[in-house]
Amino acid sequence: MNPSSLMSQDNSSVNVKSFAVDIQNLKHVYPSRRLSRKAKQQQVPTDSITAVKNLSLQVQEAQIFGILGPNGSGKSTLFQILSTLLTPTSGSVRVCGFDVQTQSQHVRQQLGVVFQSPSLDDKLTAMENLIYHGQLYGLSGNDLKKQAVDALATVNLIDRANDFIDSFSGGMKRRVEIAKAMLHQPRILLLDEPSTGLDPAARRDIWQHLCMLREDMGITVLLTTHLMDEAEKCDQLGIMHLGDLVAVDTPDHLKQQIGGDVIQIDPHHANSISSLQSALAQMYPDKPLSLIDGKLLLEIENGPTHVAQIGSALGDQIKRISVGQPTLEDVFMHLTGHRLGDA
Ligand code: ADP
Ligand code: MG
Repeated sequence: MNPSSLMSQDNSSVNVKSFAVDIQNLKHVYPSRRLSRKAKQQQVPTDSITAVKNLSLQVQEAQIFGILGPNGSGKSTLFQILSTLLTPTSGSVRVCGFDVQTQSQHVRQQLGVVFQSPSLDDKLTAMENLIYHGQLYGLSGNDLKKQAVDALATVNLIDRANDFIDSFSGGMKRRVEIAKAMLHQPRILLLDEPSTGLDPAARRDIWQHLCMLREDMGITVLLTTHLMDEAEKCDQLGIMHLGDLVAVDTPDHLKQQIGGDVIQIDPHHANSISSLQSALAQMYPDKPLSLIDGKLLLEIENGPTHVAQIGSALGDQIKRISVGQPTLEDVFMHLTGHRLGDA
């Protein structure tokens, strides 16, 4: 059944464009934890945690969509709801038109899932890992073998099919995880923090494969990340903070929200920060000014033209001044008032 295809009055089938993922007013609250007697005696607080707050989001087909947010922002909770492992408190989530709660079987057919923690058996070969996984999906015989060969070929590991996983590098293991997720030929690939723990070369390699899946096979890739360089490569990016989706756009458009450049000012001494801060606020009353890790950041158009002016007015209090293009870190700071690295 394809819910996006409806029958028109003359009984011909018409296609209604649906999103790969359509989330409306999603909320998830973890109930308060059960406490040990000792914790109860110590009156440890038992508040429930709202991990996702009223989140709405649409993901188009055949794009790489990233959810960027620091630890604790609710990414894995969202990921688990999408992969049907967690029932949301309220709201609706549709994957290829199917509802995650009432049509979870259909949803799972559409999804390939790569979890953050490894799910391969090190003592089996790459091929054996795929075969066992396929059997869980009800595949068998020559069909399963062919699909396993195709999936390993997709991630360029066919020549290592019969090698044991414990002889693979971190990046190769992640590629086998992707092959495993692609085995039942899903339309959407979900990845929770795919680059975490990988070296730069392995990251580049994984990304080459994700781009290839999108371009050659029209796969929609939805991934979570707390890494700026990974977020930069996505077609669309949703920024999450404390359970809220605070912005959705292309990485370039998000950076253009910052008016021009970012001037970074390192004070000579920690005790000159507040006088620098008030002097800059007076010089540029309508420009966003923030303090991160003891450095002042001023968002301003034509940054280089202001550097000399700031230097001559406040040079005695400044150790270093630099100007740069805004990064996604600046965007996150601008939107939330926090650093991306903050948990
Ligand atoms: P992220 O993946 O962005 O780090 P999570 O979705 O894991 O965020 O966590 C969001 C919030 O929900 C955090 O405050 C976290 O402590 C809390 N949380 C996550 N899993 C559970 C759980 N099983 N029980 C209670 N609270 C949880
Ligand atoms: Mg997580």
